Amino acid sequence: MVKNITIAIDGPAGSGKSTAAKKIAEKLGFTYVDTGAMYRAITLMALRNGIVDNTEEVIKLARGIHLNLKFENGVTRVFVNDEEVTEEIRSFEVNSKVSEISVIPEVRTELVKLQRKLGERGNIVAEGRDTTTVVFPNADIKIFLTASVDERAKRRFREFHEKDNTITLEEVKQNIEKRDRIDSSRDVSPLQKAEGSLEIDNSNTEVDVEIEYLLKKIEEIRNK
Ligand code: C5P
Repeated sequence: MVKNITIAIDGPAGSGKSTAAKKIAEKLGFTYVDTGAMYRAITLMALRNGIVDNTEEVIKLARGIHLNLKFENGVTRVFVNDEEVTEEIRSFEVNSKVSEISVIPEVRTELVKLQRKLGERGNIVAEGRDTTTVVFPNADIKIFLTASVDERAKRRFREFHEKDNTITLEEVKQNIEKRDRIDSSRDVSPLQKAEGSLEIDNSNTEVDVEIEYLLKKIEEIRNK
């Protein structure tokens, strides 16, 4: 019998979490839960409302916001109070602020609630730092992806460069190092490798090879 399972993928910025999560979700017909998109959506709204440095206001925002994620044709479409913000949440500005918003414990509590709710039906791929440690510590499969800082910076640089060619590789690298620092040292849900997770350093691995390997592992567990 094939079981209903939960897959959680963790790792630092640019480690290929979302690429892996999307491909696995598509291949298995699972729901993709992009937790980073949720933190980004709150950050975007805080920036728009000019309250990004006001913790109390950000908490109020997180408690009142209506977030909706739709995974269609390999793309997660993100809606805030019914407005689509899929593109905007990927801006450099949001990138630069999102780690500061995601250290706020009350914001995390709200979003973790929402993520667990999305996970209730099973057959999901949840992706984001803390999905294997806090959100779904009992996930059937926990995956921790890593890559060198230089490789991760190059990946993000390529993504940004398509939209904004004024950003330099050095700036992207600094941004990644800053986020690594904040994400790993924060008190609440720091970025950590969960016990029992499958660790993969993909600095020198082709995506397709990685996915094939992961799908094989997933099938083994589903059929156990
Ligand atoms: O994965 P993504 O780059 O979209 O995540 C953006 C930021 O959101 C991360 O750098 C981190 O600060 C925060 N985040 C988090 N917990 C998660 C997912 C993302 O704190 N589960």
